[in-house]
Amino acid sequence: MTASATAPAKDAARKGPERSTTVVDARGLTKRYESVVAVDGLDLKLREGEIFGLLGPNGAGKTTTILMLMGLTEPTAGDVRVLGFDPRHEPLEVKRRVGYLPEHVALYDDLSARSNLLYTADLNGIRGQEARDIAESALERVALADMADRKVRELSHGMRQRLGIADVLVKRPRLIVLDEPTLGLDPVAVEQLLDLILRAAREEGITVLLSSHQLMQVQRICDRVGIFARGKMVASGPIAELAEQLAEGLTVIELGAEADAAQVADALRAVRGVVDVMREGALWRVRAHGDVRPQLARAVIDRGWPLAHLRLRDFGLEEIYLRYFERTS
Ligand code: ATP
Repeated sequence: MTASATAPAKDAARKGPERSTTVVDARGLTKRYESVVAVDGLDLKLREGEIFGLLGPNGAGKTTTILMLMGLTEPTAGDVRVLGFDPRHEPLEVKRRVGYLPEHVALYDDLSARSNLLYTADLNGIRGQEARDIAESALERVALADMADRKVRELSHGMRQRLGIADVLVKRPRLIVLDEPTLGLDPVAVEQLLDLILRAAREEGITVLLSSHQLMQVQRICDRVGIFARGKMVASGPIAELAEQLAEGLTVIELGAEADAAQVADALRAVRGVVDVMREGALWRVRAHGDVRPQLARAVIDRGWPLAHLRLRDFGLEEIYLRYFERTS
């Protein structure tokens, strides 16, 4: 990495004084398209350096939210500030500081990877040696240095996405907004891209807003998530906190025992601390006050039934997501 690509003093001088350290602050943000309320009274605050995952099914309002933050569509009601600027009235100030990677990355197919980055640098007022250094550094970071002279049309989909990230990094953004960045990538390319995003946030304190359907990926890199359903944020917070809320203070245990179902259910219910017992396919789901696995195991084994499975169940993001949709649908 070159010195000019990371020098904070130079960076600050180029961008001028910032008006705010809160990166995104939306209150009651609403967008109506005739009869459709695409985004309905959204409150969202993003802290500097965090990775926030915007989750939700098709049509939930994720892209509309991003477009309002970028000043690309006008809110019907509510208020939003991005780095202290109002995207409605100061869209250029926002665009200068925010790197936006839409679902379909806009690159010039007939230009080389390097020329695309130099062009973006130029648009952002970075020229000459400084621009060349930044472009080289960005290409190295996304592992495309050896493809620098290739035309974009010759790059694979994964390489284009990585170049899209490089293109966003060239302008040294304080916020990166990514709309479904891993769509259509193979598993190795997904890992590479997620690592790039993670490093940008952790090493440079860049805030990241990531819209995605890919729950496992979001789970791996996001500090907080917001679950969107029909234009409303139905839950938000760190994944562990959402899991705790869903568990309602109870421990959830999965158990498999090969015996008569009614008898197993009775035996499990009789264990002290057990709140309820539910059949889930071939397994039992037991909710209890505390970890009663030893007592459950004993209840099964003492009756001479084979114990096929026993484990504590964590609420992963997939489960959290599905539960919130069960509740709101
Ligand atoms: P996806 O995951 O499919 O990209 P999304 O969560 O990004 O979905 P949006 O694209 O924000 O959802 O759409 C939210 C709602 O607003 C949908 O009902 C959509 O049909 C509607 N909508 C979006 N853009 C327009 C538009 N330009 N005109 C009319 N309705 C629109």
